[in-house]
Amino acid sequence: QAKASGSNTLAFHTAHADPADAERLKLEADLYDGVRNGEFSLHFQPITSSHSRGVVGVEALIRWHHPVHGFVPPSTFIPLAESIGLINYLGNWVLKIACMQLMQWDAQGIVLQYVAVNVSPQQFRDPRFTQNVRDALALTGVDPSRLVFEITESLLMQDPAHAKVLLEDLTTIGIRFAVDDFGTGYSSLAYLQRFPLAKLKIDRSFVENLLTSRNDRAIVSAVVGLAQTLELELVAEGVETEAQRELLTSMGCDHIQGWLVCKALPSDELAKRFEDRVLHLHEAAS
Ligand code: C2E
Ligand code: MG
Ligand code: MG
Ligand code: MG
Repeated sequence: QAKASGSNTLAFHTAHADPADAERLKLEADLYDGVRNGEFSLHFQPITSSHSRGVVGVEALIRWHHPVHGFVPPSTFIPLAESIGLINYLGNWVLKIACMQLMQWDAQGIVLQYVAVNVSPQQFRDPRFTQNVRDALALTGVDPSRLVFEITESLLMQDPAHAKVLLEDLTTIGIRFAVDDFGTGYSSLAYLQRFPLAKLKIDRSFVENLLTSRNDRAIVSAVVGLAQTLELELVAEGVETEAQRELLTSMGCDHIQGWLVCKALPSDELAKRFEDRVLHLHEAAS
């Protein structure tokens, strides 16, 4: 039972407890309550053409509204959910809700090309993962080509043989893969081309100081070249200013995501703000 396993962990850790530990353990227990009490929701952030600013897709980002602490950032609770084995449950929930939302927007006439969902390495290790994915697609009726999974370089490197099999299986049914936070890991060109990938997302850290750092410009320009060589779509994340957008566009980055366009929003707010800006397939190609 959820509560019991939370307190077992507590007993195990108290021997060397410090306040940070205690807080962490409390938060772990709260995660189970959060699942039971429906404290999780999904927000969506648009991914747009860097030229036309039309929306091509959205990234689903999980939110946890804690009854006492308010919004707890995913960077805090995702690692906790991973460490207590709750991420598979949460990940499945995210996948299902993201697919349902895509269909609901369709019904409202807001037809996005894709929804991108973050997948944690632990989900990849779950032997039921591919079946869960198939179930979510069957349940919601989403065309697999409209689902993008965002994975990290480290996921690919931890168990490359297994990752390759999973990527190939899911690519066969039409799902596409993006490498998230690209540039922060250690993958090489030779390495990347072993996997069936569709997109790279340049990590926000390279975009942040793009205008002032020659190094970061050199990295972005290398990633643009890499994406062209491997025929991958490129998205720059964390774009906050018009100057960054302009520079990225001139460097050859075709898609952007970031606060310049909009923060992650609840589905209804996103629909209100962007219904006139959704690019259909033929428009996005031009
Ligand atoms: P990520 O996948 O790289 O997502 C992008 C993060 O950057 C999001 O943070 C987003 O809100 C933030 N962001 C977007 N534009 C800007 C910007 O212009 N400036 C700045 N400073 N930040 C921007 P968020 O939502 O806090 O998520 C953090 C990370 O948590 C995500 O990074 C992802 O790794 C993880 N995460 C979020 N949702 C899920 C999920 O459903 N499953 C899994 N496994 N991980 C998730
Ligand atoms: Mg992501
Ligand atoms: Mg990212
Ligand atoms: Mg990131």
